[in-house]
Amino acid sequence: MWFNEFLSKYKSGISHEFLFYFNVKDLMDNNRNIFRYLDDEFIKQRKFGIVAFYDISRGLTFLEPAMEREFNMIIGNEVANLFRSMPSKLFPFIDIALRSTKMALFIDHAEKIVPAGDLGSMTLEERMALIWLSEWSVNTRISSVGSTIFMLADNLADISREFLKPAYRIEPILVELPNEEERKSYINYLLEDKTTKSEITLEEFAKLSSGLNRKSIKDIKLKAEAEAVPITFEFIKQKKHDVLQKEYGDVLEFIYPEIDFDDLGGMDAAKAYLTKNIIEPVRRGDSRRVPMGILLCGPSGTGKTLLVEALAKSSGFNCVKIDMSRILGQYVGESEKNFKKCLLGAKSQEPVIVFVDEIDTAFRRGESGDSGVSRNIFSEFLQFTSNTNNRGRIIFIAATNRPDLIDAALKRAGRFDKKIPVLLPEQEERAQIFKIIINKYGIATNIQDFLPFSKLAENYTGAEIDTVVRKAYELACNKKEDHPVITGPILKEALKKCRPSTQDVEFMTELALAECDDIDLLPKKYWARFEKVAKQA
Ligand code: ADP
Repeated sequence: MWFNEFLSKYKSGISHEFLFYFNVKDLMDNNRNIFRYLDDEFIKQRKFGIVAFYDISRGLTFLEPAMEREFNMIIGNEVANLFRSMPSKLFPFIDIALRSTKMALFIDHAEKIVPAGDLGSMTLEERMALIWLSEWSVNTRISSVGSTIFMLADNLADISREFLKPAYRIEPILVELPNEEERKSYINYLLEDKTTKSEITLEEFAKLSSGLNRKSIKDIKLKAEAEAVPITFEFIKQKKHDVLQKEYGDVLEFIYPEIDFDDLGGMDAAKAYLTKNIIEPVRRGDSRRVPMGILLCGPSGTGKTLLVEALAKSSGFNCVKIDMSRILGQYVGESEKNFKKCLLGAKSQEPVIVFVDEIDTAFRRGESGDSGVSRNIFSEFLQFTSNTNNRGRIIFIAATNRPDLIDAALKRAGRFDKKIPVLLPEQEERAQIFKIIINKYGIATNIQDFLPFSKLAENYTGAEIDTVVRKAYELACNKKEDHPVITGPILKEALKKCRPSTQDVEFMTELALAECDDIDLLPKKYWARFEKVAKQA
């Protein structure tokens, strides 16, 4: 928990200036905000002479009037009217107080005082504030007096990077969202008063509210109360969607999986691998077996995205998709800020599958300002995907049809525990896919056996079979508008009209085969080829 991290850093004397970021506006337990929490748990026991608060709009205020008098005495009464002035005027006086008496100084909205951006674009006022705040962190007089500075910000990326340079000693402390256990205890507390009915259990509520802070959970309860409805699965899902969309919708796509493995034609080897290595261990609570990352390789339209969705549903994991086009912004620093937020949003969904489609283009390293991702984003991503603390909580899945173009650092062993080829469906599989897709659209058909049609659909991907089915429906509608039925001749006609685009498929299949290192994941017809390649290697 953030408080323990802070306390151990404080006690070890690493620093006396801290930057708390992320979930700082939330309640830290049942009813205390971060100020009250720190006051109760830290400040009261340590006899600070002055406890003061500063933010740009309200200026300097004090916990108690006596503390204001003490401050005035130290710095000289004549400056009392400067409490609301800008940092360049006020901070020199705060500096005197910090060095003279044991003072706790809270600085809220630190990002408004020293915003992100390069040094050159900072105003003189911001630069002066930056200097004061960073100098305080290395001032030995301040540390020997015992003064402590607490800064707060919603997003670390909003703050000037200069601030966190190792030359200074400002310690960032991530204030995380409540985890499942903490949410459970908070929900228990909230529902104690019995003013709201809940149709779901405490455990279910705690699980469903992943990614929400205590304030949002409280909102859910208050809304249910105001609307005089019981708290149900649907109610939470809807409210949660609203909150997450508002919070992270600009940088992250939330996937609510509708389908499971039965809605996927073929892919038996992939399904078996995922069942054995993810679904079953997760059910048993044995997360050590769960892979950290998986790479799906194969031509477009073969159902890679669908497989991820079905895995999310079957494993009970949440699912988010990182879409780099949402993240890469126009301004310097904007992309990095978005990306940080995106990773925090993804993490807030634990247990979660983090999906990146077309990873070869999404994480192409950019050279001097072209459209690729910056070095910072890339290394942040590498760190995120290789953090073994996340094992069993975050599964990172990437898809590509060009594994040969993936950055070598991303492919390096360890990041992807398994590379699964997702290839063109075989004849039997195509028959299943025809059936599944016709069912999915709820279209009437009198065809019992799809095998003859799948024979005609050699080299079609799942996505192309989808196109054929929609074409067949269109033809059926033309024939019989009231009750369109897909018949054998109609499906044949549709097959004739929609040819598969074989371009590149052969090449992409080759690439996926070359990437695969486990023969059990391949259909039999590729075994000979696999062994040949293995020998050459
Ligand atoms: P990819 O991610 O490999 O490009 P998608 O998962 O987006 O492919 O698949 C596109 C569409 O093709 C799906 O929405 C689905 O209609 C159809 N499809 C592909 N493969 C299958 C499959 N194995 N079973 C059922 N439908 C499939």
